[in-house]
Amino acid sequence: MSETVTRNLGDDRFAERAARADAEDPLRGWLERFEPLPPDVSAYLDGNSLGRVAKGVSEAMANFVGEQWGGRLIRGWDESWMSIPETLGDRIGAAALGAGAGQVIVGESTSVLLYKLARAALDARPGRTHIVVDTDNFPTDRYLLEGIAAERGCTLRWVETDPGEGLTPDQVAGAVDGDVALVVASHVSYRSAWIADAAAITAIAHRAGALVLWDVSHSVGSVPIRLDDWDVDLAAGCTYKYLNGGPGSPAFAYVRRADQGSFRQPIWGWLGSVEPFAMGAGYEPTAGMRSLLSGTPHVLSMVALGVALRHLEEAGIEAVRRKSVALTSFALELADEWLVPEGVAIASPRDSERRGGHVTLRRHDFRAVNERLWKRGVIPDFRSPDGIRVGLAPLSTSFADVYRGLAALRAEL
Ligand SMILES: *Cc1c(COP(=O)(O)O)cnc(C)c1O
Repeated sequence: MSETVTRNLGDDRFAERAARADAEDPLRGWLERFEPLPPDVSAYLDGNSLGRVAKGVSEAMANFVGEQWGGRLIRGWDESWMSIPETLGDRIGAAALGAGAGQVIVGESTSVLLYKLARAALDARPGRTHIVVDTDNFPTDRYLLEGIAAERGCTLRWVETDPGEGLTPDQVAGAVDGDVALVVASHVSYRSAWIADAAAITAIAHRAGALVLWDVSHSVGSVPIRLDDWDVDLAAGCTYKYLNGGPGSPAFAYVRRADQGSFRQPIWGWLGSVEPFAMGAGYEPTAGMRSLLSGTPHVLSMVALGVALRHLEEAGIEAVRRKSVALTSFALELADEWLVPEGVAIASPRDSERRGGHVTLRRHDFRAVNERLWKRGVIPDFRSPDGIRVGLAPLSTSFADVYRGLAALRAEL
């Protein structure tokens, strides 16, 4: 048998596998709950950077503009808009964070919320002068902490992590002591998709008297999170990735209920104060999660997020995770068969227990290869220096998408 024939047989086998997996997928109905891809895109593999548009979002946005903004005008704030940050926060908490009501609020960007929480944590541990963070944490986390260290005269204690994996409990155990106020870490690594053992790391930090701030941007809506059960102090995360909130949709923050009275965030705006419309002298924070707010809530963006979130609420995070593992496992199988022989390295955990919702593949020429893929309508993303991330948002990605995307990648090699 010639080499071409063998290859085609192999392709057929995988194409059939993809078709069968799609037919048996309990979440296949959710694929129809998103607006169709534009005609120039054949496989969207970047739902971990910007989630697709859920059906119903356009209508909800248009209705909101017409009936709420246009119809209610300033009256809308008192009637309903003012409470959206909390009601939406509670919904995210219940659907994706394992957080009981009253501990999550939607605020500004992830960056700003991480800053507020990290500053509050540092101030809650007076006398402790160090923050533990790993070298491969997301850039904004590292930069914010550098800024806080400069501002507050404290020191960052860097844990060197393997970019193909991520932070381990042993590394944290070796880094915390009585000088450490705070450990900041990503639950799922944006680069490798490594799932950190959040429960173990949180317990280790607590034993040393430190607080923990989890960035859950890359896990929320894809990997189950149990903030209450893990005894997490603080967390923040993104809503435009697996939560499909749309470009620049606002982030959320979690503060464990028991600590809410003792944390004070540093941006003292009127909407976090006890009585904003008293316009009084002197800032006094209000009780509970609203004290995390600073200025006027991002209402328009929250409308889209509120609609998209229903799809996750109905699917359930456990079913989403099961499909996610099946999608990334299939991607790895195709990569082993088609790409590894071409010199591609797998830079994500092979153990599905430790692997989040994407798979990172590396080769020296992947920057150029990614550009060519985009030109042919296959859209993963590129992460410096040489990684292509194949992001598989479970609700909006089919096994056939994985097949088509990786077949195109193989063709480009
Ligand atoms: C996407 C992402 C962010 C984004 O922060 P923004 O303030 O929304 O730009 C932060 N942290 C992690 C881990 C992310 O994946």
